[in-house]
Order: sequence, then structure tokens, then C-alpha cells
Amino acid sequence: MAEADHAMFCDLHMHSTASDGTHAPAELARLALAAGLGAIALTDHDTTAGLPACAAACAESGVAFVPGIELSADPGAIWTDIGQAPPERLGTLHILGYFIRHDEPGLQAIHRRLLDARAQRNPRIIANLQALGVEIAYDDVLELARAEGSRVVGRPHIAQVLLKKGYVKSIQDAFARYIGEGKAAYARTDLLPPREAIEAIHGTGGLASMAHPVQLRCHDDAAMDRAVVCLRSWGLDALETRHTDHTPAQVDRYGKLAARLGLLTTGGSDFHGERKPIGLGNQRVPMEVLDRLRAAAKAGG
Ligand code: AMP
Ligand code: FE
Ligand code: FE
Ligand code: ZN
Repeated sequence: MAEADHAMFCDLHMHSTASDGTHAPAELARLALAAGLGAIALTDHDTTAGLPACAAACAESGVAFVPGIELSADPGAIWTDIGQAPPERLGTLHILGYFIRHDEPGLQAIHRRLLDARAQRNPRIIANLQALGVEIAYDDVLELARAEGSRVVGRPHIAQVLLKKGYVKSIQDAFARYIGEGKAAYARTDLLPPREAIEAIHGTGGLASMAHPVQLRCHDDAAMDRAVVCLRSWGLDALETRHTDHTPAQVDRYGKLAARLGLLTTGGSDFHGERKPIGLGNQRVPMEVLDRLRAAAKAGG
């Protein structure tokens, strides 16, 4: 396929070593070029630390760059607000921010809060593992994260240490046996009210999108509709319709939901490098998706 054809696609969701990916921010630009992508957004968990390096490398590679972030928010706040019992197993609520000014104090304050929350949560996971007879020290995890260049220490780093020590066969295995949601060593970190996540993103001139809606684990379609209406009342701008975890039927359903509620759409692979079997650019998100987002950011900002 000619390069011009490839550049019709973008990938608006990926992670670098600034959070829990395994590629440095600048490497992502080179990988995007090799994958023939016309544009990428870097959306590290809870940090903007990788944005300047990725932006510079993208400029060099001729790949359009969108500064982003993915904030971990509290899914429970939705069910409280709409007065509905939460699903038996509370899912994940991640809010993506696009076209953010990364040095805005409000966002950096959120970043520090989320780092604090992780500093409380991670040792609880380690203690849970130790209680299960796993010989692991939090320092092992901190050391690995630091060596990789991350200050946002998360479960993938813990999984990597478990793998290195031979307790699990793979990263997936670590989540399935120990640290996945609902498993024996799991502990939550997501205490940020979603409204505050959205407001912090707006405060930087950015747009907020609900990441991978399927991960909220709603009981049914009606509950998902109510959850998204609730997030929209808090200022949500967009829904991530295309994502590696979504079936084609879900992409279609979330697209229709976004259209019905007057929300924009976003999409991306959620590429993490070597720790997850996901190909950069795998969602083939049309550039028009980014064009619409850019126009809305300009109009609002
Ligand atoms: P944390 O923010 O520390 O709770 O870690 C969340 C991250 O763990 C997600 O963004 C994924 O990168 C990763 N993750 C969650 N569940 C799994 C899983 N089942 N297998 C592999 N990685 C996972
Ligand atoms: Fe991650
Ligand atoms: Fe996520
Ligand atoms: Zn992500």
C-alpha cells in the first residue's frame, strides 16, 4: 500500500515508558512512521511526562501529534449519581484527554494526587502478594519502574517483577492469577471523581473522552446508556468507540450511542509495547475522527 494510503489512519491511544508502556516516547514516533500512521496521540496513565519528547520526535518524523493523557477515575461515582446498584464487579473508568496543555497547574495537581493514590495502593498489592506466599518487595517494583523511566508505577510493573521471579508464565498470567480485578492480590487505585478528571482536562483547553467503555462492565445496554448520559452531564465530549477490547458489534453500538447523545468519537489501539499483544495502529481509525476532534478543540479552546 502506498504511504499516502496509510496516512489516512491515526491511533489516538497508546502508552510509553512514562507510564506502563515499554517504548520510550520518542520511539513511538518512529513506530508510528513505520506503521504508516498519519497521526498519533500519546495517552499515558496519569502523567504528561512523555509528551514533549514524543512531540519532538513526531515533528521530526512528519507524524501529526496530539498531546493526551489517560486519567484513572472512580467508576463508583457514576452508579452513586444515577442511584443504581453498581455491577457486581466494579469495572474500570479511564478518561482520555486530548489537545491538553500539559503544564497546566490544575492537571499537574491531579497528577500528584494520582501518584499519591498509587503510592498508597501499590504497597497494599505487595502486602497481599506476600500474604499469598509470594516473595516480592515493593523496592523490586520501584527499581524496575525507575530503570524503565516511569514514575507512574502500576500493576504491569508488578506483573513484570512476578514474571522475572518466575511466579507467573506471562504478564497476562500475573493478572489472571494475582493482580487482575477481583483476584486475591488486587487493590483499587481509582479514587478520582470522574467530574474532576473531566474538569481538569477542560481546564487545559482539552477534550475528554471515555476510554474503552466496555471495561466499565455495565450490566446491560440500558445501564451503559445511563452511565454515558451521566458522564456527559459532567462535561464528557467523546466516546472511544474503536478499541482493541471492542468487538465490531460494540464499535457499532458505541458509535450509535455517541451519535444519539451528540458526542464525538475517538479510537485507538491502547498499545503498550512488549507487555501486551497489541499492534500499534490496529484500529485503523480514520483521520476524519481526528479532524472532528481538532475542530471541536479549536472551537472550545
Ligand atoms: P493500574 O493503573 O496500576 O491499576 O494498572 C492498569 C493497567 O494494567 C492497564 O492500563 C493495563 O495496562 C494493565 N492491565 C489491566 N488488566 C490487564 C490484564 N488482564 N492483562 C494485562 N494487562 C492488564
Ligand atoms: Fe496501561
Ligand atoms: Fe485504560
Ligand atoms: Zn490506555
